[in-house]
This record gives sequence, C-alpha cells and structure tokens, in this order.
Amino acid sequence: MTKNPSNWAANYTYRAARFHQPETVEQIQELVARSDKLKALGTRHSFNDIADSPGDLISLEHLDQVVALDRAHRTVTVEAGVRYGQLARWLHNEGYALHNLASLPHISVAGACATATHGSGDKHGNLATAVSALEMVTAEGELVVLSREKDGEQFRGAVVGLGGLGVVTKLTLDISPTFEVRQDVYENLPLAELEARLAELFSSAYSVSLFTDWQNASFNQVWLKRNVSDNAVINLDPQLFGATLAIKNLHPISSLSAENCTEQMGVHGPWYERLPHFRMDFTPSSGEELQSEYLVPRQNAFEALQAIDQLRNSIAPLLQISEIRSIAADDLWMSPCFGRDCIAIHFTWKKDWEGVRYLLPRIEEQLAKFNARPHWAKLFTMSPTHLQSLYEKLPDFQQLLQHYDPNGKLRNVFLDQYIFGTS
Ligand SMILES: Cc1cc2nc3c(=O)[nH]c(=O)nc-3n(C[C@H](O)[C@H](O)[C@H](O)COP(=O)(O)OP(=O)(O)OC[C@H]3O[C@@H](n4cnc5c(N)ncnc54)[C@H](O)[C@@H]3O)c2cc1C
Repeated sequence: MTKNPSNWAANYTYRAARFHQPETVEQIQELVARSDKLKALGTRHSFNDIADSPGDLISLEHLDQVVALDRAHRTVTVEAGVRYGQLARWLHNEGYALHNLASLPHISVAGACATATHGSGDKHGNLATAVSALEMVTAEGELVVLSREKDGEQFRGAVVGLGGLGVVTKLTLDISPTFEVRQDVYENLPLAELEARLAELFSSAYSVSLFTDWQNASFNQVWLKRNVSDNAVINLDPQLFGATLAIKNLHPISSLSAENCTEQMGVHGPWYERLPHFRMDFTPSSGEELQSEYLVPRQNAFEALQAIDQLRNSIAPLLQISEIRSIAADDLWMSPCFGRDCIAIHFTWKKDWEGVRYLLPRIEEQLAKFNARPHWAKLFTMSPTHLQSLYEKLPDFQQLLQHYDPNGKLRNVFLDQYIFGTS
C-alpha cells in the first residue's frame, strides 16, 4: 500500500506502519504473535483514532462469512468482518432478524459492537447487547472464546472491548423471527411538547428518531418505525403532539433528496430495509461530515435537550443535522448505556473541526450535570479523568485489558489516553 488509508470521513489518516488483510484465523494468529503493536480495523467508520496502532493494522474485511445458524437457540455465528447489510439480508432470507440496526448498514459487526454502536428504541439495547459469544485472538496469538452463558462478568467486560482485548474473529448474535416494519414521518414538533410527552413519544413505536437542525426550539422531523408483523390496522393521526404527518418521503436534512433514504409513508417492508435510515444499495464512499454523540439518562432527556437548546445559536451554523434516539440499559461494562436507559443526542457536523473543537467543550459542560457519556467512536473533547469517572467498571476493564494483553500490544494512543491516562 503506497499511502496510508484514512477513515470513512477522511478526517483521520491511520498512522500504522503496516496494513494487513488476512484471509484466515491462522494468519491472524501468526500476525498477532509476531507483532509488537497492533489493532484490528473494521470498516473505518469511527471519527477518532480509536482504531489506529503505531504498528500493525489488521483488517478483517476478508473474514465476512456467516458461519452457522442455530435455529434451536436462535443465534447466528459470523466472521467478525461481516457488514450488517450483508448479514441482515442473509438472515431475512432464512426467516430471521436482528433486534436493531444503526443508521447505516455498511459498518462491520465487530467494529460496531466494539464501540457500542446503537440504533433507536426504548426497549432495544445497543447492537453489542445481541452478542452472546465471541472468539478472539489475544496478544500472544492464542484463540479465546468467551460466552454470556459461561463467562459472566469477563464476557460483559469484553463485548464493548474498544479493540483492546484482542482481534475478534467470530461473534454469535441473538436473533428473532423476521418481522415487517413501516416507517412514518411527522414534521415540526415543538421542543416544548416533549416536557410532558417525551416518554410517550419514544415508547410509541419500535424505534423513534427525532431530527433537528437547531435553527428553532423544535424538531424538523419525527421518524416512527413500527413493527407491523401482526398486520394490525394503524390509523395514523394527521397530527402528533403538534407535528404534521409528512406527505412524501423525506431525507433527515429536509433540503436533500430522499432517494437514498429507506421507504417511508407507511409502506411495509422487511426490518432491515426500514430500521436503517439509509438504503442498503446506497454506498456512501466518504462523507463530508464529522460526528459527535452524547448519551444521557432517559429520565433527564428533556432537561438535557433544553440545555442544548441554550447553545442553539452556536450549534446551528456548524451543524448538518442532529438526531435524538433512545436506547435501553445494559450490563456491558464499557457501554454508554451501562446501568441506565439512555437518550442519545447526536450531531452530524459540517467538516469544520476548528469550529467543532471549540464548541464541543461548551456542549460537554452543558451536559456534564447529567453525566453524559460520549460515543466511543465519535469526536469529543472531555478530559480522560472526567470520562473515566463516568464508568464505574473502568478499574475492572483496565484489569481485563492487562489480563489479556499484559504488555500493551493492543494499546494505542486512544486507550492510553482515555482508559489508562490521567491528563
Ligand atoms: C455515516 C456514519 C453513520 C454512523 N451511524 C451510527 C449509528 O447510527 N449509531 C451509532 O452508534 N454509531 C454510528 N456510527 C459510528 C460507527 O458505528 C462506529 O464508528 C463503529 O465503530 C463503526 O464500525 P467499524 O467497523 O467501521 O469500526 P472501526 O472504525 O474500523 O473500528 C472501531 C473500533 O472497533 C475495533 N474493531 C474493529 N474490528 C475489530 C475486531 N475484529 N476485533 C476487535 N476490535 C475490532 C477497532 O479496533 C476500533 O477500536 C456511524 C458512523 C458513520 C461514519
């Protein structure tokens, strides 16, 4: 490779000395055993340096097959490099579904789970909560399997592993029978309506997302994704808490064409063609955007949104769109939803890092009273000590990393700084 690759958004160029694309687990074991410093690389959709290493970067893009479907236990085992889009279509054809998907289907299962990637839905944990077992190559090249059933706390520490425990080679995920979803969009929901109705709104569908450009104290769009497998008749109200039912498909950024968005207007379709906002066959190669996201306890959601609204005039000029989602609590040590139901406040920024870098500390200050945890794979500016104070299991996670990687082979600047660092 002549030039170091960059991440999807091209705001970060990997500094690794060598890049590898092994085709077998044995090749990964050999690479890991002879490397001094390494990290696994997924589909490069993270916005910070979490996936980098000064030594070897090991991409699992050639390990992308479905290994086994266990109909009796309702699980699927996959090679770690498989992308959700590919897996979802395969599962649906076999009659099964995953519980949720992120906004786009192009990310790898291992990379997404390692950073607690999530979709939306009051009752749905992030994507990592579907993991029931994982196989990984640890620092000396040894193959280790951990499962929810047998390994309890160690397993709960390893699933959202930030790439620090080993190169994950296989994952087993919980599945359910396939289901149909319809998507309906409402426009212009006043923020004030949420004071009394936030819980009602987010629990009103399988998955709910609000979008705003923060130009006003309102949400431009409300996306409701309903499980309609029972074929029950749904009579939609033309108004929802002051918002109006849309009469055509919309892009979250209203001025953009909706042709790359998943079907709306109540048209039924399989779960994997409705839960992501963007269509599977639309492959964005790179993005003129940056992203940040903060997860706050659901009980504080309205106050947190009001706190962000106070910065609206500073946020709006730098913003493409903001999305508000809901995620269920889990017990995965390094998940931002550990121990608490969350509302996630996401920002898709214009590609202006200087401006965004100046603004993020103000957003973080506004959200600090809610103990907001940042998305591991997006851009944030809070200090390592503050970040560490937000994770009660951090000392256990440090020990787990040291157990599997005593010489710090898989440590990189990100882990040194945010997991072990003090500055
Ligand atoms: C356009 C866009 C939309 C997004 N939408 C969402 C969204 O809806 N919800 C959300 O929560 N996030 C979202 N994200 C963030 C994204 O989900 C995360 O960045 C996720 O980690 C991407 O997975 P990846 O495969 O690209 O991982 P990478 O960025 O390649 O790696 C991320 C981490 O995973 C580790 N890793 C990867 N593979 C392995 C492996 N085999 N073994 C061990 N560790 C591994 C890496 O070492 C690194 O620490 C979005 C990002 C983009 C660019």
